[in-house]
Amino acid sequence: MPKFYRAEHVLLGDELKDAGPSFVEVDGARIVSCGSCEELKSIGAQNLDVIDLGPCTLMPGMVDAHNHMVMDFRHPQAARDLSADYPAQLKTAQLTANDDLLSGVTSSRYLGDRLYVDVAMRELVASGETPGPKASVCGIGMKSDKAPGFVARGLGAAEAFSETARRNLLLGVDFLKLFMTGTLLPENESEEIPFYLEPEMVRAAVSMGLNEHKYTAAHCIGGQGLRICVDEGVTVIEHGYGITARDIELLLQKNIRLCLTPGVFMDEQRDRYLPAERREAGARIRERVMANMSGIIASGLFYATGTDAMHCGLAREAKYICQLGAANRDAVKSVTINAAELSGTAGQTGSLLPGKCADMIAVRGDPLEDISALERVAFIMQDGKVIADWTKQPDDRPGSK
Ligand SMILES: [Zn+2]
Repeated sequence: MPKFYRAEHVLLGDELKDAGPSFVEVDGARIVSCGSCEELKSIGAQNLDVIDLGPCTLMPGMVDAHNHMVMDFRHPQAARDLSADYPAQLKTAQLTANDDLLSGVTSSRYLGDRLYVDVAMRELVASGETPGPKASVCGIGMKSDKAPGFVARGLGAAEAFSETARRNLLLGVDFLKLFMTGTLLPENESEEIPFYLEPEMVRAAVSMGLNEHKYTAAHCIGGQGLRICVDEGVTVIEHGYGITARDIELLLQKNIRLCLTPGVFMDEQRDRYLPAERREAGARIRERVMANMSGIIASGLFYATGTDAMHCGLAREAKYICQLGAANRDAVKSVTINAAELSGTAGQTGSLLPGKCADMIAVRGDPLEDISALERVAFIMQDGKVIADWTKQPDDRPGSK
């Protein structure tokens, strides 16, 4: 029997239109209809199964556009777990996935873990064996063996990129991931951003992906490496901290989509466990990075937003996006429908529309007025299943109303 979930505000459709006091009808795993509370009265609510979520905003479940399963920046030595054995990595992935789900993230795009933990987890979540966000995964991230960084696998020549991409695709990944640059801008502004992949390496991965209709994303902050990515067919750029006005022109022309992770520079909670020299280096370039991210947001480029393994922090990322100049609605889109677009799941999730999966959350307050409402998740549903319902409990978290 269908159930009717009613709330003070409901953000409907891909444009997150606030329909006011409204309902969403859920039957099994799917949304069947949406409408105003007036309509609900006229069809005789007394005979229906109506669940009142009260003075909340009912909205799509959040989608983290850039996450990792086994790294966890809430803890010291976030990267340490990446060298653990498979059972230990799987256990960490299960913990972070469960935490993310309980923060209102019903789907997540994962940008590289090791040992194909992400592929295994995607199936465990899909089969209902382990709780977590529904996953879009890239398998083994590919970098040059000359490049720094610890998540991806270092590879020597273009053939190794083809081979690794082929293996990823055989295991059924949703997209491919390359690492073109590091994460920090050179402190001297006139210095070029170093990059690590030759055009033929990028081409090898991209063409392998296209054979299977899968796109390639690249960790890339900007500079010459960005131009190589664009020329060789990468269609999603992760981070983009060094993207300038001149780059934006090119990215707009080529329809390149961006995935922003502002918390890497803006989240004090993340700074806590970074080595002192990394923290200080980040602080020295923070203002330039923020100006560049603001430029992206103001430009009209498509972007989605992710936490980069700061689990349970997606609501804060949306807040940073607003601080960088986005309207609240656009910030919310960047952690719902736009993130679903990058995940390739926008036909199924990311907005409240009849026919889509019943992936939805209720938050206390109205995120279109106050973005921090996203931090006050009171109800979580995934595929029609109630994951948590705290709506009848008082909210004693700071900032709650
Ligand atoms: Zn990442």
